[in-house]
Amino acid sequence: MDRGDGDQRDTGDSVRHVVWDWNGTLFNDHVGVVAAVNDALELLGVASIDADTYRSHYTRPVQRFYEQLAGRPITAEQWQALDDAYHHSYHAWVERMGLAPDAPAALTAAEEAGLTQSLLSMWRHQDLVPLVEQLGIGRFFVRVDGLRVPGGGGKTEHLTAHLTAIGVEAATAALVGDTLDDLAAAEAVGAACVLYDGGSHHRHVLEATGVPVVDTLTAAVTAVVQAPRRRPGIVRRRPAR
Ligand SMILES: [Mg+2]
Repeated sequence: MDRGDGDQRDTGDSVRHVVWDWNGTLFNDHVGVVAAVNDALELLGVASIDADTYRSHYTRPVQRFYEQLAGRPITAEQWQALDDAYHHSYHAWVERMGLAPDAPAALTAAEEAGLTQSLLSMWRHQDLVPLVEQLGIGRFFVRVDGLRVPGGGGKTEHLTAHLTAIGVEAATAALVGDTLDDLAAAEAVGAACVLYDGGSHHRHVLEATGVPVVDTLTAAVTAVVQAPRRRPGIVRRRPAR
């Protein structure tokens, strides 16, 4: 965990393991995500959004995201229907989408740099695993974890269990993801984080976090290898809770 006692402690650490996010990171699916959200919103009688509106409102938990778009609270029953509609619609898009352009190159670069790699997603596990294999990148990962139960909460608990399962200490791991939820999870467990601009947030929002923000996955690997665990000269404080 971040003890809030400065940066010098970390300068000798090196990252040895990369945890990759899937949606919006390795898998280039922003078009399908926005379309699926719009299909879900139709259930609520809420007008469609574009990618820019998505970026302005995206948050976790996802239920809160829909509430912001709808401008009203969403009941548990409505949430279940929305989640089902989203996944049904998204599923129809999957075959039309693919890996981020340099995903294979980035995975290869990480391997060549001596890093071990794993995949941690908030997408449904039973859909994720076959797709990863179908796309030919399964061999890069020591473990692939999606969501095994219906959900949509934050990623922190999921990341903790994932690192425990593979026996990797958080201090030697970096998470590469595209959302603030990825960063929150990494910081909560004490792992490094690199944010990839995959379309989920406005660029200035990503940059305001202070962690490295990259446009390609290959650049993410470079940033991980440089182990940018903290901004130089910036002392982070533990969240007040
Ligand atoms: Mg993502």
